[in-house]
Amino acid sequence: MSPDLEFVHCPYCGDTDLVPTEDDIDWSCRSCLRTFTVTLVAVGHPPASARWRGRG
Ligand SMILES: [Zn+2]
Repeated sequence: MSPDLEFVHCPYCGDTDLVPTEDDIDWSCRSCLRTFTVTLVAVGHPPASARWRGRG
């Protein structure tokens, strides 16, 4: 699995020092030392069930 597009900014600290993990599934930020996974939920207008489950 290879990502379509590499990340530029860490979603947590905003730094640009991101590297893929050895298994190429997760990303690791060398600035804040967080490791995270990005999942594609939908392409186009997402269905209601796929919307961000935030407040409101
Ligand atoms: Zn970070």
